[in-house]
Amino acid sequence: MASLANKVVLITGASSGIGESTARVLAASGARVVIGARRTDRLETLAEEIESAGGSVRYRKLDVVDPDDMEAFVAFACAEFGQVDVLVNNAGVMPLSPLSALKIDEWNWMIDVNIRGTLHGIAAALPRMEAQGHGHIINVSSVGGFVVQPTAAVYAATKFAVRAISEGLRKESDKIRCTCVYPGVVESELADTISDETARERMKAYRKLSIQPDAIGRAIQFAIEQPNDVDVNEIVVRPLMTQV
Ligand code: NDP
Repeated sequence: MASLANKVVLITGASSGIGESTARVLAASGARVVIGARRTDRLETLAEEIESAGGSVRYRKLDVVDPDDMEAFVAFACAEFGQVDVLVNNAGVMPLSPLSALKIDEWNWMIDVNIRGTLHGIAAALPRMEAQGHGHIINVSSVGGFVVQPTAAVYAATKFAVRAISEGLRKESDKIRCTCVYPGVVESELADTISDETARERMKAYRKLSIQPDAIGRAIQFAIEQPNDVDVNEIVVRPLMTQV
């Protein structure tokens, strides 16, 4: 098994939930983590926590919708730690609603963050990884990347897209590893932006089935720790014995 020690791992959307937890899990195993999100107060608190536990961390404001900001985030990581071994494209939003509610702004928001954000991460990291001859891109999709539930059509479409992008990346490169992670329901703030009442009610039922975000962090750790010639392409992590 390859070691995580000193690997430079960039994590988008690290100010809460899965990203925050993954940063803790990986830093505790010796990775040098670079965390980004828009809420820098949260990043600062997380960085202090990781450092006081003996971990190595840098943080920077990041809006994944802006390709220049993503480029600056990856450049910052290179300036601080000299390389980019792993990029975890985790930032995402999920304002669910039925299509008939015509929440076009929310559809576009999901497309911007979940699809364009992932592509911007790849655009910033891939050339550097190719130049150094190795790298690992980990994209966070969802079980919604396989199955569409009512109120989740657009969200699922973005996660289908993340799955397609991951598969394309894997097939196009024999140097860059690519893992797509498909979480089931995870305890986080993701559902907090749902304004639609129907969707909120549906999510309440699902939330009872949620697992903790560190389970996703451990799955990501597993993928990174494989030897360089082993590519873990897909990991589904969901609550035991549910159809969700
Ligand atoms: P959270 O809402 O807790 O975290 C989402 C993170 O994304 C936050 O850190 C937020 O930071 C960040 N983010 C949102 N918009 C942007 C942006 N424009 N630029 C940079 N960062 C942004 O949710 P989760 O941890 O649950 O979600 C993480 C990922 O996991 C998402 O891709 C989600 O779709 C996926 N997922 C989650 C599941 C769940 O049940 N929770 C299930 C399946 C997949 P900030 O607001 O500070 O910018």
